[in-house]
Amino acid sequence: MINYLRCARSSADRTPACGVGGRRFDSCRARMNLSTPINQIPSIGPFYQKKLEKLGIKRAQDLLFHFPHKYEDFSNFSSISQIDSEGNYSIKGEVIKIENKRIFKRKMVVTQATIKDSSGKIDAVWFNQSYLLNKIKEKGLFIFSGKVKKRGASFSLTNPLYQEAEKSDSLGEIIPVYPETRGLSSKWIQSLVKKIMPLLENQIQEMIPREILAKREIMPIKKAIREIHFPSSQESAQKARERFSFENLFLIQVTVLSERIRLSREKAFSVTADIERIKRFVESLPFKLTDAQKKTSWRILKDLEKSYPMNRLLEGDVGSGKTVVAAIAILNTIKAGFQASLMAPTEILAKQHFNGIFDLIKRFNVNVGLLTSKEDRFYSKKLYTDFIEISRKKLLEKVKSGDINLLIGTHALIQDKVKFKNLALVVLDEQHRFGVNQRAKLTTKEGSLKPRVPHLLSMTATPIPRTLALSIYGDLDISIIDELPKGRKKITTKIAFPEERKEIYKFVKSEIKKKRQAFVICPRIESSETSKETKWSKLKAVKDEHDKLSKEIFPDLNVGLIHGKMKTKEKEKIMQDFKNQKVDILVSTSVVEVGIDIPKASVMIIEGADRFGLAQLHQLRGRIGRNKFQSYCFLFPDSSASKTNERLKALVSSNDGFSLAEKDLKIRGPGDFVGTRQWGMPDIIMDSFKDFSLVEESKENAKLLLEKDPFLKKHPNLKKKVDELREKMHLE
Ligand code: ADP
Ligand code: MG
Repeated sequence: MINYLRCARSSADRTPACGVGGRRFDSCRARMNLSTPINQIPSIGPFYQKKLEKLGIKRAQDLLFHFPHKYEDFSNFSSISQIDSEGNYSIKGEVIKIENKRIFKRKMVVTQATIKDSSGKIDAVWFNQSYLLNKIKEKGLFIFSGKVKKRGASFSLTNPLYQEAEKSDSLGEIIPVYPETRGLSSKWIQSLVKKIMPLLENQIQEMIPREILAKREIMPIKKAIREIHFPSSQESAQKARERFSFENLFLIQVTVLSERIRLSREKAFSVTADIERIKRFVESLPFKLTDAQKKTSWRILKDLEKSYPMNRLLEGDVGSGKTVVAAIAILNTIKAGFQASLMAPTEILAKQHFNGIFDLIKRFNVNVGLLTSKEDRFYSKKLYTDFIEISRKKLLEKVKSGDINLLIGTHALIQDKVKFKNLALVVLDEQHRFGVNQRAKLTTKEGSLKPRVPHLLSMTATPIPRTLALSIYGDLDISIIDELPKGRKKITTKIAFPEERKEIYKFVKSEIKKKRQAFVICPRIESSETSKETKWSKLKAVKDEHDKLSKEIFPDLNVGLIHGKMKTKEKEKIMQDFKNQKVDILVSTSVVEVGIDIPKASVMIIEGADRFGLAQLHQLRGRIGRNKFQSYCFLFPDSSASKTNERLKALVSSNDGFSLAEKDLKIRGPGDFVGTRQWGMPDIIMDSFKDFSLVEESKENAKLLLEKDPFLKKHPNLKKKVDELREKMHLE
């Protein structure tokens, strides 16, 4: 591993100064197009390919659409003596000294340079960029631009951008700064873009209709791409960014609205709400529904009555009780004579719903089936009996004949082989991707009647910021469960240190004495000596931890083990034993992250907690605190770096998914929020969601356009983009 890195680094250093080497580009001029994979672009070898893919760049066009997130202005220099406060500065001076210093305690390399001009001296520092020693040479004249921070009594430039002064005669340049990953500099990216731009420029097509371009004075696409990477002025860069912000919002609006138009013309089974039966069901529950659960159930029942397909997102924090809302919709659907299906992201969760939802609705005389992909074992449930195992063939026959009222499963549900008699409702639990084609597969086609598209209810605990949600779904299609069941206590969360371990184990024991249960979460399955991380820390592995806990720490308790690589049957058994309290402590990887419901669990220990993202930690922690008693979560970090602690501290301070999401947004930036990176939206564009008037304006324009051209027949470029985006979003 280390060797590989060393090689790669040195080959990177051999790259010529312009960053990306030359002549070979001409030879591939004819071949390159927007969808050329990046590894076929000259000068991108496996090393760079990997780095680029980390940024979500897989094809040539992704490079063009990988936008700078800011610009450094090299046109205005300050003399060094003028620097008397923190802020952004550009200076020009001679490098008198540059060296790398290794700081072992913080596991980093600091590159420190001293720069001098006629007025004075200043230090510049970079973190973990030791290769700069080969780029910034002593005695060289350079321009540096970046943040000045106070360190002790003096000021220094931190991670500034640099440019060799002699080389560039165009000193007035505005230099783009790209969202970077280690080892990929903005310079390198820009020079790569510069090479491929002329080869691809003519293939880029304008998708904003001409009238709108003219009316809003929007910068046309080709110019905007050029200006965003190589701005002729700050204003021009700004106009280019505005264009992409608008384009992006407009595209989303057109997609959402045209989807709605399309769906409103489709037919769905209209499912009448049987209020009496629903009342009986609600009374049979061991708890009272919260107001939010009642309200959202009602909305869903109303939607189901319509003769066109519902498309509803049900958002509710972990433990808010989404399952029972789904159960109401399901029961109502199947008792009206239709079928329903529920899809979960993992087998464990599918199995849990199979048991749990059956328990909720069994007294209404229903047949429930389970279908997962890994092993050929299929179940069906009958009234008041336990499950029976039947062959896949039999199960599929029963689904086709309508004998199975509710089919629960994983993604395996969407196969050509699975045919329903009259599927009226599909519920997706914690699942983000479900495309048009998938819904089409579940559509019922009867003779010459218009096919019936199933109603769709998508449930998620992933909080989506309000403006984003509104602009994506429109307020009509989101329901939010904004309260937790009564009596829930705030989970006590604590960052724990090695010396507290004994005490915490003692505490776990005392909880289990009270008939409670515990989770111990570890970041990986097996310990691996060869892995890079072990140099600094020993990442906890479930297998070792299970050994240690069951043999040494809790020899008289039942300690179970679960991870993703186990056989389905084993996983099911252990989850069942945990639920039935045959197991007291479950040592697990993040396979239990979403949806798992073990009401008696009151303690969770998360090992290597800083290895998990904030949203993931919140989901994990959501496995406890699902009952009236106090629950506790202990976070054992395996490093003390400040950034990670920020995340853990956020978790300690809040139990609320929405406010954590906002903190996460601040810590990480909009990056991969709600999977938007998969939609291919650059971060700067994500910012545009905050601009409410722009959101509104794009919506207005989308509406006007679709009124005139509902199927985008006159706007093929736009239609293509809309089709692409629709597949990427989980809207449908
Ligand atoms: P999530 O929204 O995370 O999917 P679940 O549907 O799994 O949450 O519900 C979490 C737990 O809360 C379950 O054990 C469920 O039985 C229980 N529950 C749901 N609604 C209520 C309620 N209104 N009052 C008390 N407990 C409830
Ligand atoms: Mg759930």
